[in-house]
Amino acid sequence: MGLLTLGSPLSWKDTKKFADHVRKHGTQQLINIYRRLKDRHGDVLKWGDEVEYMLVVMDADNKTARLSLKGNEVLEILERREKESPSDYPATWRPEYGGFIVEGSPVRPYGHLMEHLNMVEANMRLRREEILSVLDQERGETVITFTAFPRVGCPGSTDPEVECNPTVNTASHSLFFPDAAINHHPRFRTLTRNIRERRGEKVCINTPVFKDINTPKPFRDTFPNDDIEASWHAKDDHIYMDHMAFGMGCPCIQCTFQACDLGEALRLYDQLTPLCPIFLALSAAAPVYRGYLVDTECRFNIIAQSVDCRTREERGLEPLKNDRFVIPKSRYDSIDCYLTPEAEKYNDIDLILDQDICQQLQDAGMDRPLARHFAHLFIRDPISLFSETIHQNDEQETDHFENIQSTNWQSMRFKPPPPNSTIGWRVEFRPMEAQLTDFENAAYVVFIVLLTRVILTYNLNFLIPISKVDENMQEAQKRDAVRQGLFWFSECLPVFKKPNADWFYSEYNDGCFEQEEDKEYTKMTINEIINGQAGGFQGLVSLMNSYLETVDIDVDTRCSVQQYLMLIQKRASGELMTTARWIRAFVQNHPKYKSDSVVSEEIAYDLTKVADEITKGVRACPELFGTPRTRTKVSLSSVGQKKLRKESSDKADIDVLI
Ligand code: ADP
Ligand code: MG
Ligand code: MG
Repeated sequence: MGLLTLGSPLSWKDTKKFADHVRKHGTQQLINIYRRLKDRHGDVLKWGDEVEYMLVVMDADNKTARLSLKGNEVLEILERREKESPSDYPATWRPEYGGFIVEGSPVRPYGHLMEHLNMVEANMRLRREEILSVLDQERGETVITFTAFPRVGCPGSTDPEVECNPTVNTASHSLFFPDAAINHHPRFRTLTRNIRERRGEKVCINTPVFKDINTPKPFRDTFPNDDIEASWHAKDDHIYMDHMAFGMGCPCIQCTFQACDLGEALRLYDQLTPLCPIFLALSAAAPVYRGYLVDTECRFNIIAQSVDCRTREERGLEPLKNDRFVIPKSRYDSIDCYLTPEAEKYNDIDLILDQDICQQLQDAGMDRPLARHFAHLFIRDPISLFSETIHQNDEQETDHFENIQSTNWQSMRFKPPPPNSTIGWRVEFRPMEAQLTDFENAAYVVFIVLLTRVILTYNLNFLIPISKVDENMQEAQKRDAVRQGLFWFSECLPVFKKPNADWFYSEYNDGCFEQEEDKEYTKMTINEIINGQAGGFQGLVSLMNSYLETVDIDVDTRCSVQQYLMLIQKRASGELMTTARWIRAFVQNHPKYKSDSVVSEEIAYDLTKVADEITKGVRACPELFGTPRTRTKVSLSSVGQKKLRKESSDKADIDVLI
């Protein structure tokens, strides 16, 4: 979860004092990177995934499932293992916000070979096994990639149980979620406190309750000690939450791609943007919060509210006096602008930006839309700052830039190359929710990676006005959006003549495409977007299959990829359930469910137990993902390895996963 500096965090008051300093030097650091690296060219495709894993303890005697607060301990062991076997260890580990989460990625990124697609699932499996090997499984400890823990924030929902009330929760002031369950790295507690202090009150999350036949109407939540602030903030017919962890404690999957150069990275960022809501809906996995069925299915809006540090002035509730801007969105939200000059005409929402910074970036040679993007990120204050990193060498260091960049938690992230590294311009796709199994998580990641290749190869153009992407983001989170939602989508794809399917040299755009000019967009179902319309848009999977016919792909990889595509196709058509729909159905069909939206400890236990068995493959779940049998592999074949060695014979190391 962004920049992890070790050291002494400043108070909010002192952090605020340095806000202009951080922005000033952050801008200079960005300019330095840009000047040095804007013409960097010829990078090859590298990519990787991040999965956040939730640690849970099951107690069969008492029928409880709890969040295990062993995250820091587990991470320490895993990091040690990684360090001790640097050459053949498969994974790399990172802390995450929740003290019950660890994040894992492949130790090195994947490369441009098709065969790399076939390693994702096996690597995810290894990572999960690694975590399991550190847990006390006899005691019921396990790893579950739930996006939202069903009873997060309910009394006694952590292991060990820790005291929870506004007096002990000095960082958050939460009624429900204990600060003791935040990751122990000082960054996370500091973020929690500073977000609350900056906002001027604790965070306030309301998500609509699912109205079942016995749900009280209106539904009115009750709070410990009749808390007045809670009663004031909680809306009727909503579930109220008041801690950053309700959002930032939600596991997700992310993927990052390295482009061949700045231009390609910008284009990928833009083209993946309209796909964010589509894949948010397809990956929906969060229909239960704080022990209630809710009427939404994704974590996204909940995270946005959980880190909303805007003051009352910035939220437009009071006239501007001390603050500079009225800001329409939280620092976690969907992006507000495209980055390529060609896409600028679709930037139709009011972009709040720091004019001075925008001018400085343009004076340094940055194109207008990219300068506006960064100047928009820089309207935010740094929300945590460490005394050790205040004074920096702007030529060599980028902490101040990264500070602002990595606390703008948006649906997409545009990542400039780090200084003094071999890493190029990258783009991160961030909307997707975590699925229960490695198969599903791999399927979503591989689908997106392939889609980037198809976009670049066929020069596809999915742009629609950014305001329509925002509308889609809201549509995506509604109950059963995959089957019932309608999404703005660009139906006029360019006609492609000669696909250039070369993954390696990235010379995709060689003028062999006819670009449609006046592009149209209409509303489509997710099924139409993925599987195509009769007589209309051919569908993403059909485009991907055309592409797959033109590339050199081994039988095993083809077999696995086929099953990944099939999962997405069948989720899109509704033949298979999304995780959210499956969880909702599980609760509603549970014999103890009283049709009153309440997910009791026992229901949550049974759900978690079944989820654990599905994840471990000891229980089938054909309604969720069929009966896949992929041929995923932990390493490249000897043919693949030889190919890589040949290509990089002039380099000392092969810095991708083999
Ligand atoms: P974060 O996303 O938290 O900001 P990083 O910037 O470190 O973190 O990105 C981590 C992700 O990037 C992982 O999925 C990793 O596999 C992937 N990755 C690492 N190196 C590269 C690279 N050269 N090109 C593309 N992706 C990479
Ligand atoms: Mg993360
Ligand atoms: Mg990430």
